[in-house]
Amino acid sequence: MIDLIGQQFGRLTVIRKAQRKIGHNAAWVCQCVCGNKIEASTINLQSGNTKSCGCLQREIASKIQRVNLLGKRFGRLLVIEEEPRKVGDHIVFWKCQCDCGNIVLHDTNTLTSGHAQSCGCLRKDDLKKLIDNNAKDGTMLNQIADTRKINKNNKSGIRGISWDSSRSKWTANIMFRRKTIHLGRFDNKRDAINARKRAEKEYFHPILEKNR
Ligand SMILES: [Zn+2]
Ligand SMILES: [Zn+2]
Repeated sequence: MIDLIGQQFGRLTVIRKAQRKIGHNAAWVCQCVCGNKIEASTINLQSGNTKSCGCLQREIASKIQRVNLLGKRFGRLLVIEEEPRKVGDHIVFWKCQCDCGNIVLHDTNTLTSGHAQSCGCLRKDDLKKLIDNNAKDGTMLNQIADTRKINKNNKSGIRGISWDSSRSKWTANIMFRRKTIHLGRFDNKRDAINARKRAEKEYFHPILEKNR
């Protein structure tokens, strides 16, 4: 015969055996630190399922709800509606209206951390501005936006990557400030693509950052 009297389970202290059973389990009258008394079964107490009269869950729930982003603005996004969803633990999503009219959903964290500033239109606009600004500068930034047509003779189908049949190698290059910069020859097409990607980062990103 188990005796839990005097034992503590979370916020609950067992004060006596209850008269009734819960299911087939013995039940116990417990005093919660908040002042309430409840009855809980042996199994729920010992497994940790019951740790309070319910006050603990209410506190956790109110902590989640305390973040209220309604009406708040994050860059171009205005939070217009709460959309609670059950994803793993309870996650709150927010319906946001972008200045351009698009509606997007983001969770609390993404918004408060500043990771979402628009529906995606901000990046597109930035890029367009950048291309306009840098057209004068002679930097072929339209390569980032992939607006240039790929040369018909380009067997790779990827900008900046071409097949050098005389050497039987893939070559990678990048256009920067109206100059073609040679990035190397590769046996492997993937290596050529990687070299090109690295170069895009190296040459274009500082300009992207500068023009932010
Ligand atoms: Zn309580
Ligand atoms: Zn937008």
